Amino acid sequence: KTYVIHYVKVIVSQVRSSNDQEQSGSHTIVTIHDETRSRELEAMKVDFVSMAAHELRTPLAAISGYLELLKIKERENLQGENKRYVDQALISAKELGDLINNLLDVTRIEKGTLALHMEEVDLAASAHQAVQDAYFTAQKKNISLSYAGEENNCMVVGDEVALREIINNLLTNAIKYTENGGSIHVNFGKRGQTFAVSVKDTGYGIPKASLPNLFTKFYRVHGGLDSGSTGTGLGLYISKSIAERHGGTITVESQEGIGSTFTFIIPELTAARLDEMKQKQPGNLNVRRHRGWVTQNINR
Ligand code: ADP
Repeated sequence: KTYVIHYVKVIVSQVRSSNDQEQSGSHTIVTIHDETRSRELEAMKVDFVSMAAHELRTPLAAISGYLELLKIKERENLQGENKRYVDQALISAKELGDLINNLLDVTRIEKGTLALHMEEVDLAASAHQAVQDAYFTAQKKNISLSYAGEENNCMVVGDEVALREIINNLLTNAIKYTENGGSIHVNFGKRGQTFAVSVKDTGYGIPKASLPNLFTKFYRVHGGLDSGSTGTGLGLYISKSIAERHGGTITVESQEGIGSTFTFIIPELTAARLDEMKQKQPGNLNVRRHRGWVTQNINR
């Protein structure tokens, strides 16, 4: 015997006539919608993106490699305009690499194959370091960047690379969506049994109507063609998904023209939590790359 799995959506609604409620009683409408096919299509789309992103990585690595080589070998001859061209090409190659990594992360999240390596992580140290690393980028826009709260010794259970990714995303966004000369303040603190990292900026802010969509895939508020801002609208979706995998969350408060505060909250480390998270972790975790994760099963 072979079985075929069907995914169905069942909607049950009650219908009552307003004038003769008592006589005819109520009726119920049941709609059954077979979603098997649309799910299959969705899965095919995800597979396609995953495959395309994988295939793009190899030639991109070659491009970046040769550009680096050119820079080293031609150090003396590469000057002025030509040096700028090569540097710009390297920057663009890096942006393309980030985009590919984002697409891969999204497909892993959708397929449930994003493997996190759970261990004890000092979140305060990570957050503090991330802010230090962002000074240079902030400085280029003349944005002041400050940090308050613990700088170490605040332990959580998590994937260190993934947690850094969340904080970096919030910081990069704050810098990207704040005018030159603005300011960003990062606060680290304990709230009950959790730690909260909040990133507050004096940037463009987000319209109320956009807030419910902010954490969905590909959604961008300040992404108009003439805005000059580049991005994919994937960063917050990925960050929120990763936060939730850690039992945490990301929330936002914002006022247009005034600024935004994004807050990442995650439970503190307890022995029970460490056990629980490690249990959920697949046994044969492979080596992590310098950024991103290795999937358990790349069946594409
Ligand atoms: P990306 O930055 O690549 O567009 P994200 O998912 O990180 O994607 O962000 C989605 C959208 O949310 C951005 O396009 C931007 O319009 C808005 N946004 C994110 N962070 C901020 C912020 N700190 N201030 C104002 N708008 C923001």
